Amino acid sequence: MKLLKWFSFACLMVFLTVLTQIGGLVLLLSYPIFRYLRQIYHLKNIHHFLINTLIFSALYAPISTWIVPPIAKHFGRVRLTTLDNAVLRPHSIWYSVLNRDYAIPKLSDAAQRVALRLHETSPNAIVYFLDAGFPFGGMPLLPHLSHGNGHQLDVTFFYLDKNQQVTNLKPSKSGYGYYEQPRVGEAQTAEYCKEKAKNKFYDFAQNLTFGSRKDMTFDPDRTKQLIQYFAQDPAVRRIWLEPHLTKRLNFKGLDNIRPAGCHAARHDDHFHVQVY
Ligand SMILES: [Zn+2]
Repeated sequence: MKLLKWFSFACLMVFLTVLTQIGGLVLLLSYPIFRYLRQIYHLKNIHHFLINTLIFSALYAPISTWIVPPIAKHFGRVRLTTLDNAVLRPHSIWYSVLNRDYAIPKLSDAAQRVALRLHETSPNAIVYFLDAGFPFGGMPLLPHLSHGNGHQLDVTFFYLDKNQQVTNLKPSKSGYGYYEQPRVGEAQTAEYCKEKAKNKFYDFAQNLTFGSRKDMTFDPDRTKQLIQYFAQDPAVRRIWLEPHLTKRLNFKGLDNIRPAGCHAARHDDHFHVQVY
């Protein structure tokens, strides 16, 4: 029984580390408090579980908010933005809560520059980003295989509401998995990657929307403008976008917008930016 308990604790530590990078360590720091309370209060397991969750959260929140950012900054990573930023925000607060919004300053500056540039032409547009990187080191940001050193950022497309009016809302709750499918006659990359290149997980992100609304449509104008501004930024090395969208949006003279290849995820629900 004791062995099973330790095994579960180790699995939880790994899970929290994979999800947030610092969560496993915070769990370990919380352990002496869990143990002390278990010794002095003899409660039901469910009550201990609730108390432990509270203790973990009470430690995780201040460490993540006040202790990690200055240390990460010292090692060359900064948070991309703040929740009250007028032009650049995480699509969901969870990207910040889970420490998945860190990047090197060059990427943070580029994203802010592009968002301000877009704001000049589309004053109501807010650039929403998804996963970036963790605060420390080269640990991969799963499930991505290509986010690990603070040089990468996923950005959402723009959409029109059911009345075909511009909106900053997105159809997918997580920001991932709501694909702008290829039309007849366009490159069928997903089909090719699943069948010919044998990547069965190519569109796995469709399972990770956490809920989506079907009454919104892709906004080609603002999306094109946003991708173009990123591609033109001197700090940006490449952008990954599905071939059918690259062709449909008709980018001119920009050779850094490329397909990610069949061994990455689909990029017609978001685009991926990488800086030098
Ligand atoms: Zn990415």
